[in-house]
Amino acid sequence: MSALDEPLKKANEALGKKITSSLLSNGYRTAVYAHDAHDAIRLALGLIPDNCSVGIPGTVTVRELGLPERLIEKKCRVYHHWDPSLTTAEARAARLAEENSADWFVTSSNAVTLDGKMVNIDGTGNRIACMSWGTGRILFIIGLNKVARDLDGAIARARNSATPANSLRTGLDTPCSKTGYCVDCNSPDRACRVISIIERVPFGREAHVILVGEKLGY
Ligand code: SF4
Repeated sequence: MSALDEPLKKANEALGKKITSSLLSNGYRTAVYAHDAHDAIRLALGLIPDNCSVGIPGTVTVRELGLPERLIEKKCRVYHHWDPSLTTAEARAARLAEENSADWFVTSSNAVTLDGKMVNIDGTGNRIACMSWGTGRILFIIGLNKVARDLDGAIARARNSATPANSLRTGLDTPCSKTGYCVDCNSPDRACRVISIIERVPFGREAHVILVGEKLGY
């Protein structure tokens, strides 16, 4: 790291401190700041025990970190529906159910606000459903690139930053996959079908957050 990186590191730390404090006030069991991906992986592996089941929904962040492979090394049973061996709708639906009923659900968030609210947009709704309700514990891993000042900014971020890239990744023929920003389309392939705002941790849920001081996911 060069001397010129030091001010950015300090600014990121201050931002991380503000958001983790907000998240703790909103009922998260733990909310910690990790300086980088390496630190985030260490914290995640410390939180999730060996030999448990882990559901991983559609998340670029968690895959970028290489966390599924590290969890398998810990003898965890990892369920994820991006598995290319799932060739039928029935097999995919069964895997989604396994994902959502695992001991841990490890995901990111399309956006998090300064006052600790999570905003997410889904096409299928499985990820949002499990963020809101589930029997297992949930861990959010969120790069600082997902931070928005307020709810309006968070929704705009989810539509204008996350969805165009996700549309391209999944091959959806949406207008934003060509423009790079949202036009609030009525396309048959529209990816934005369900929106969720988690203002406080839902009753009965144990939720944790690792906020990471670098860009992760879209
Ligand atoms: S509403 Fe349509 S154009 Fe806007 S982000 Fe969603 S899919 Fe893209």
